[in-house]
Amino acid sequence: MSRFIDQYILNEEQKERIGKVEELAARFAERAPRHDREGSFPFENFADLREAGYLKSTVPQQFGGDGISLYELVLLQERLAYGDGSTALAVGWHLGQILHLRTTRKWPQDIFADLCRSVVKDGTMINTFASEAASGSPSRGGRPETTAIAADGGWRITGRKTYSTLSPILDRFVVSAYIPDEDCASDFLVERTDRVTVVETWDVLGMRATGSHDVALDDVFVGSDMRLSGKGTDDGGGWLLHIPACYMGIAMAARDFALEFARSYRPNNLDAPIASLPSVQRSIGEMEVELRTARSLLYSAADRWDREENNRPSLKPELGLAKYTVTNNAIKVVDLAMRIVGGTSLSRELPLERYYRDVRAGLHNPPMDNTVFQMLANASLNEKP
Ligand SMILES: Cc1cc2nc3c(=O)[nH]c(=O)nc-3n(C[C@H](O)[C@H](O)[C@H](O)COP(=O)(O)OP(=O)(O)OC[C@H]3O[C@@H](n4cnc5c(N)ncnc54)[C@H](O)[C@@H]3O)c2cc1C
Repeated sequence: MSRFIDQYILNEEQKERIGKVEELAARFAERAPRHDREGSFPFENFADLREAGYLKSTVPQQFGGDGISLYELVLLQERLAYGDGSTALAVGWHLGQILHLRTTRKWPQDIFADLCRSVVKDGTMINTFASEAASGSPSRGGRPETTAIAADGGWRITGRKTYSTLSPILDRFVVSAYIPDEDCASDFLVERTDRVTVVETWDVLGMRATGSHDVALDDVFVGSDMRLSGKGTDDGGGWLLHIPACYMGIAMAARDFALEFARSYRPNNLDAPIASLPSVQRSIGEMEVELRTARSLLYSAADRWDREENNRPSLKPELGLAKYTVTNNAIKVVDLAMRIVGGTSLSRELPLERYYRDVRAGLHNPPMDNTVFQMLANASLNEKP
């Protein structure tokens, strides 16, 4: 029987891409325990991703990228996270944002083209630093405390961002800042200079190797053409599915570990491995319910987003539901996997305790559960009777 994880591969091209990502994931899985323990940034993983051409996956083909679809992004990111959740989440922000810029066209064409060429040629990466201690999650609409003040030929930006994933490796990034003179917020593309400091604050329970430190900006100059105020076409935020794809990959890894354990572990009070026990089979069945439900929602949301180009804004509830279901089910799956394995699952020699910590972070990536509930409530209340 073919592997459950391969169930959503639709054609030979996807199979080939998955094959390459699987090799990377296996390599990253070996490095993951050390980076998790140290809380260090896996620079070598990103060198490998660059070398493999993975960083250009979502770049439009006209600029030399692969121009993959959202469905394919989900497929690849899930597989990468199977090996290492931190690396997958971190590179997911980069790939997802390029896809988002590709579909919304919200940046001036020349700036986007320059970024794309640089990704293809030099392996440049991008991320947006929007979260702040005082404003909380940007998805809730809080005003940034980081300010942009008009200066000769541009802007001077001062403030401090939190949760800045990929900060150890980025040489340019987007920040949101408030412009007091205009009483509005805007995005700016910032080059890393000596006025930008990465403050190594990221010492957390899970996703420890994402390098999501604070980034302090001290009167950083940004040229006037680097103000990115356009909103572009509303794409419904489909790119954010890179987040549930990541947590699904971690849950799949936990599931496979528990299955292998159940098939091979035979304590001396039994005549057969624990997989023969009805109680263990019930837990396996429960894991499958959580996984199959979540994956079917995830892949159908991604597929609809790809196909229904003119309907993307109205897919937001579906996308939110997929994220909510996947992240919560992934937590349940890792929990069940640990119950199947028993006390051994607590060992730091095994990956399960890391999966358990990593998967928890999904609750705090957008859209958060309460936002999804609100969105679904609004969608139903606004339905025409
Ligand atoms: C691994 C990881 C990587 C991340 N990477 C990035 C990144 O690269 N860039 C980036 O910008 N951010 C990033 N984030 C940050 C993330 O998007 C959130 O900003 C962050 O997790 C804080 O969200 P929060 O909901 O806890 O914060 P808050 O908005 O401060 O909320 C805290 C709590 O208060 C309540 N609350 C606050 N306001 C409201 C409200 N209006 N309505 C209802 N409840 C409310 C909620 O119960 C919530 O649980 C990352 C987060 C994680 C965990």
